[in-house]
Amino acid sequence: MEEKIQALREDAVEAAGEAGTLQAIEDVRVRFLGRRSELTRLRKGIGSLPAEERPTVGKLLTDLQGDITTALETRTVAIREEERRRAIEAERLDISLPGRRRALGGYHPITQTKIRMCEIFRGLGFEEVEGPEVETEYYNFDALNTPSHHPARDMHDTFYITDSVLLRTHTSPMQIRYMEQRQPPIRIVVPGRVYRRDADVSHSPMFHQLEGLLVDRDVRFSDLKGVLAVFAREMFGADTRVRFRPSYFPFTEPSAEVDITCIFCDGDGCRVCKRTGWIEVLGAGAVDPEVFRAVGYDPEEYTGFAFGMGIDRATMLRCRINNIRILFENDMRFLTQF
Ligand SMILES: [Zn+2]
Repeated sequence: MEEKIQALREDAVEAAGEAGTLQAIEDVRVRFLGRRSELTRLRKGIGSLPAEERPTVGKLLTDLQGDITTALETRTVAIREEERRRAIEAERLDISLPGRRRALGGYHPITQTKIRMCEIFRGLGFEEVEGPEVETEYYNFDALNTPSHHPARDMHDTFYITDSVLLRTHTSPMQIRYMEQRQPPIRIVVPGRVYRRDADVSHSPMFHQLEGLLVDRDVRFSDLKGVLAVFAREMFGADTRVRFRPSYFPFTEPSAEVDITCIFCDGDGCRVCKRTGWIEVLGAGAVDPEVFRAVGYDPEEYTGFAFGMGIDRATMLRCRINNIRILFENDMRFLTQF
């Protein structure tokens, strides 16, 4: 009998130890402690044992029940602990992972150039104003001393919307609009989009210009030169020099093309500057008296100068690219470099 009870104990403890879930524990409990278990059967048989054996067997069976219960409880605690550990593991945050970086937007290189240009001119006392991109022939050409027979008015060069409405070919119409509304002194810069029928590696049908206009009494050509020399040094580097070459524009007289020393070779001559050491960056001149007459200013009383430059061209120099299309393709690999 004693051996039988010991074997039962070993079976029960082993079964409890192997139980992997709370349900399995319950199954083991029913099997070894339930109404139909061997233990219950043995207990019922005590009455048929000789009287002197009854207390001994009764005690053995009570001990057996205690041992099985303990084994089941121990295993239950272990299973609960294991389940808790697994739940924590499943919810654990891995704080060693790098965070997700939020991509920040930025200004397009052309906008960056425009902002820098306007900053420099603001420092020289110029106010920044903007005008309409859809213009009339009057503001774009007539008032700027560009008569109807002028080649710039050709259908091949200009995007016409109707016979007398067009996409502005330069930012200069804003000179007229501004002067019509005000009396000198005037100091403005006009950045904005302009349109011409032109497209190759250095021309885009839509591009950006910055126009400047200064009108006052006793404005001289040397004032223009001084303003542009300061601008060139601020924009392209302290050692940058400027060179004026005679040129022609309908709305300025005299007119000049303005070059800066090549920023790639410092004037020694390279492929970009075609071995000349100079790069053309803008056009300028003294305001033509005809333009003053168009806005009702007395050319005997007022003089002034105007200049215009390509923001895209300056951006190409700054970003060191030789194809203007890169500026308008919005390729992030290019844009994120600036
Ligand atoms: Zn060069």
